[in-house]
Amino acid sequence: MSERCIHENFRAVVAVGRIEHPAPKPMTFAADVRIQCADCGEPFQFLGLPAGYNAKGAAVSVDGLEARLAICPRSDAPTPLDTIFTKTSTAH
Ligand SMILES: [Zn+2]
Repeated sequence: MSERCIHENFRAVVAVGRIEHPAPKPMTFAADVRIQCADCGEPFQFLGLPAGYNAKGAAVSVDGLEARLAICPRSDAPTPLDTIFTKTSTAH
């Protein structure tokens, strides 16, 4: 009788892509993430994301197994911390 795997070790694959658009739209970037148990191979689902694709946010493949994350270079957009600091600074 085999024991059920308790999923203690993981393997993740991240594919980062550059998506070129006709001018004048800027190039966008995406990170597609898959995670599976390194011991038994069972894939993990990503929870709480809408199915599909979102060029400015996060989504998941229809089978739930690939998170599709919009990303950008650090210098292209404020981070959440920058946004909080800006809101705090302008409140005075
Ligand atoms: Zn496992």
